[in-house]
Amino acid sequence: MKADIHPDYSDTTIQCACGNSIEVGSTKKDIRVEICSKCHPFFTGKQKLVDTAGRIERFRKKYEKFQNQ
Ligand SMILES: [Zn+2]
Repeated sequence: MKADIHPDYSDTTIQCACGNSIEVGSTKKDIRVEICSKCHPFFTGKQKLVDTAGRIERFRKKYEKFQNQ
C-alpha cells in the first residue's frame, strides 16, 4: 500500500434520528441519518415512518386533488 494516497479510514458511529447508533468503518466522522434498519418500516413491520420534516404530509396534500378526481 502506498502511503498518503488513501483516505483516513477509521471506526465511525452512525447516529440515527430514532436514537439507534451503528458502528461502521468509514472515511467520514459522525454520520447522521434519519432512517436505519432499526426504525425503517420494512424491518419493523410497522407502518410508522419517522417523518421529521413533515415531508410526507406535504406530499399527500399536494397529490390529494389527483386522487379525488
Ligand atoms: Zn433509526
